Amino acid sequence: MPITHPLIIITAPSGAGKTSITRFLLQKYPQLSFSISAATRNPRQGEVDGKDYYFISEEAFKSHIVNNDFIEWEMVYEGKYYGTLKAELQRIWEQRKVPMLDIDVKGAIHVQQQLGSNCLSLFIQPPSVAELEKRLQSRGTETPESLATRVNKASYEISFSHHFNRIVVNDDLQKACLETEQIIQQFLGW
Ligand code: 5GP
Repeated sequence: MPITHPLIIITAPSGAGKTSITRFLLQKYPQLSFSISAATRNPRQGEVDGKDYYFISEEAFKSHIVNNDFIEWEMVYEGKYYGTLKAELQRIWEQRKVPMLDIDVKGAIHVQQQLGSNCLSLFIQPPSVAELEKRLQSRGTETPESLATRVNKASYEISFSHHFNRIVVNDDLQKACLETEQIIQQFLGW
C-alpha cells in the first residue's frame, strides 16, 4: 500500500541524543520538516517561539485539548504540557514534506496507534542510564531535581523501546546518525 502522508517519529529518553540526530537529518534533507510542538514550559535561553516550540499558556493548551486539536499530548513533566497539533502536521504535508516529530515515548506510541504504517518510529537508546546522566549533567541545563526526574523517567521509558519500529543505540553519534539516515531512506523509498 502506498504511504500517503508519511511521518517520522524520533523518540528517546531526554539526553539520548535524539535532538542531535534530528538536527543532522533536517539539515541534510530539506524534504523533512521539524514538527513544532506546543508547550507550556518557559523558553530556554536561545529558544525561539514558533521555531523550537509554540510556547503557549496552560489555558491556551487546555482549550486546544477541548477542541480536539492535538493528535497527541502529554504532561511530560510535572505541570508541563507538550503536544503535537494536527494543524502542524497538515501544514507540513501541504508543503509536500515529511514531518519529523521529536516527542516523548508515550506521545510517540499514541501517534503510532493512529497513523499505523504511514508512520516510522525510531527509538534512540542511550548506551546506559549512567551515560545518559553524565550527558544531561554536561548539558548544564538541569537543576539537581530536574536531573533526577529526567534520569528516573529515562529508565522507565527504556522499558518501552520494543514498541517502536526500530531501535538505534547511540554509543557513537556519527554512527547513530548514519544508521538513522539509512532507515529513513529505506522507509521513504529514497
Ligand atoms: P524539552 O523540555 O527538553 O524540550 O523536552 C522534553 C521532552 O518533551 C522531550 O523528550 C521531547 O521530545 C518531548 N516533547 C517535545 N514535544 C512534544 C510533544 O509534542 N509531545 C510529546 N508527547 N512530547 C514532546
